Amino acid sequence: MPETSEHSADAGHRFDTVLIANRGEIAVRIQRACRELGLKTVAICSEADREAPYGSTADSFLCIGPSSAAKSYLNQDAILLATRLAGAGAIHPGYGFLSENAAFADAVEKAGLTFIGPTASSIAIMGDKISAKRAMMAAGVPCVPGPDTALPDDPATIEHIALEIGYPVIIKAAGGGGGRGMRVVPSANSLHEAIALTREEARKAFGSPSLYMEKFLEHPRHIEIQVICDDHGNAVWLGHRDCSMQRRHQKVVEEAPAAGIAPDIIQPVGLACVQACLQIGYRGVGTFEFLYEDGAFYFIEMNTRLQVEHPVTELTSGVDIVQAQIRVAQGHVLDLTQGDVTCEGHSFECRINAEDSDSFLPSAGVVTHLALPAGPGIRVDTHIHAGYKVSPYYDSLIAKLIVHAPTRAEAMTRMREALAGTEIEGISTNIPFLRALFEDGAFARGETDIHYLEQWLKLRRAA
Ligand code: ADP
Repeated sequence: MPETSEHSADAGHRFDTVLIANRGEIAVRIQRACRELGLKTVAICSEADREAPYGSTADSFLCIGPSSAAKSYLNQDAILLATRLAGAGAIHPGYGFLSENAAFADAVEKAGLTFIGPTASSIAIMGDKISAKRAMMAAGVPCVPGPDTALPDDPATIEHIALEIGYPVIIKAAGGGGGRGMRVVPSANSLHEAIALTREEARKAFGSPSLYMEKFLEHPRHIEIQVICDDHGNAVWLGHRDCSMQRRHQKVVEEAPAAGIAPDIIQPVGLACVQACLQIGYRGVGTFEFLYEDGAFYFIEMNTRLQVEHPVTELTSGVDIVQAQIRVAQGHVLDLTQGDVTCEGHSFECRINAEDSDSFLPSAGVVTHLALPAGPGIRVDTHIHAGYKVSPYYDSLIAKLIVHAPTRAEAMTRMREALAGTEIEGISTNIPFLRALFEDGAFARGETDIHYLEQWLKLRRAA
């Protein structure tokens, strides 16, 4: 039975102005969605982003603090003050920064504003990987083998848990994120040392020593399911994505749908995600992340926000995910049912980063020349222009190149064309690396897993 929410359209969740508490390409993307919905926008910036192009296209533009993210984009008081000053009724957190901060979501709602995202309690449950796993198991979502409780202190009990799961196992921090706070344990010899090291890391990095253990899968793909839910007990899934192309647990290329997965295998997983959303009273957009190995799915975590890779699902499903997210935050009933959702064709996204193509070291400076590709099935989400100064303070993502075509092979060809037509000068970018990756045979055949890209890079360096 879905929880009835206290936030309905009648409960004052109408707003006509949205403050976008983010920067870069996603600030542009959200601003566009707001405008198309007839909403006014407030852009914010740090001192480093004063010249940001989305400042001049917003209805108001406020500088909220110094360049350091801790003092600007993560400064909750400054953002709440800016929201009040600009007369906005809602805050869109984008991704990263405060988007999965339950205390911020709570503060926004307590200030009588709308947080365009799930409730603080949903964020808190999913932010703790143990409680997320427990909630998912209870909802019938398949999880990685291993208990849904924190590891005890007693060495003998820990050894017993590892034996029951079977080596190799992985030790993970309950509060971990960004690919940190994890350690693989190949055999009993290194179990206790791995636990001691990870516990210390978790205490320092995430403020909690809580750990859990699960089976380490050796050659999985990363497959995720996009959901959207309203406040009235409606939830749908919008298909699946493959984000196995990762470097240091960071996604580099994403695609939708995930290649070679039969509908009858993915269908029950999508439906289980929808059920889980209804069971926890989830509101807004979210992503269930799974590892997929030997025909089986294993839940690893849920992201309770809009994701960088949402465009590949927009192009295959035809749903404007950002607009839909804003509309459900306004209290509207979701205007599509599961039967309306069809996924057509194939889409790829390349993350274009300001970084060296070989060393991956970040590159800052002025973009002296910019040529972006255009044409059927090509979309570029970016905030940069010729003359734009890429600052060293933030994430290196400067553009997302997204293509859509009837088949995966055609979408790959289109991406090769689009990459060939992308020219960015004045700073280094990973475009040469992306061009080479799209020439790779195994990638073209869909024969990859989460370790493939790292191995490919190793071979490339050795050559
Ligand atoms: P984070 O929140 O830090 O992103 P995740 O739980 O999503 O952590 O895991 C990040 C990545 O670590 C996954 O995409 C996968 O590559 C790897 N990973 C996580 N759990 C396992 C597991 N049980 N077996 C194998 N690899 C794993």
